[in-house]
Amino acid sequence: MSVTGATGGPAGTGGQGGPLPPELYNEDVTCALCGKKFTVTKVRMSRLRVAGRDTDFNVTYEGLDPNYYTVWVCPHCGYAAPESAFTELNQAQKEALLAWLGGRKPTVDFSGVRTWDTAMAAFKLAIFQAQKRGARPSVVAGLCLRAAWLCRAAGDATEAHFLKAALDNYIVAYDKEEFPIGKMTERGLQYLLGELYLRVGRPQEAVGWFARVVEDRSGEEPQIVNMAREGWHRAKEVLKGAG
Ligand SMILES: [Zn+2]
Repeated sequence: MSVTGATGGPAGTGGQGGPLPPELYNEDVTCALCGKKFTVTKVRMSRLRVAGRDTDFNVTYEGLDPNYYTVWVCPHCGYAAPESAFTELNQAQKEALLAWLGGRKPTVDFSGVRTWDTAMAAFKLAIFQAQKRGARPSVVAGLCLRAAWLCRAAGDATEAHFLKAALDNYIVAYDKEEFPIGKMTERGLQYLLGELYLRVGRPQEAVGWFARVVEDRSGEEPQIVNMAREGWHRAKEVLKGAG
């Protein structure tokens, strides 16, 4: 992706949804797959106010969910990927994706203001294509985790499916990828694995991962260590209830 200049400004067009709210802006980018230019809608994070934090790193904001805009979808070729991994395509992956996409344009308009449905459709496209092209497991995991958060916000039961998929892929990433993974340190991912195990109903494994973090005496990342200590107690409570 190469950025070729912002368009729109404060009153930029919102594609299907009319004018953009002040938290959003448009930017022209070049598709990493087909090379054509298209417009993506991005979030001005500085304009958002934090509403809450979940124990699996989900941060919620008042008024607008920035996760709606995580995935970029090219309207020309249908390539879909998170902004953070949009340009991670080698030649073999490009050929695999182009063959699979077959020159079909997406039937959904992903530009401008997104609804929950279009945001979820974008995640499903990106998860499917990431698996198709053999993206790093952490890329698939990150997409699944965010899709789970989207479900949580809507009270959608598919959250459990996406959490499980995030867990499966983060386990592979933990063994195979180098840290940091995104912004996550090894300790951060150990904590998250504990949290995901707890959320998918496997408290015994959760205790083990939380314990790894708690037993680390390096003094680094005290916030993560405190969260792990708290998670360890929650997992123990679940075990007690089950026993
Ligand atoms: Zn494209």
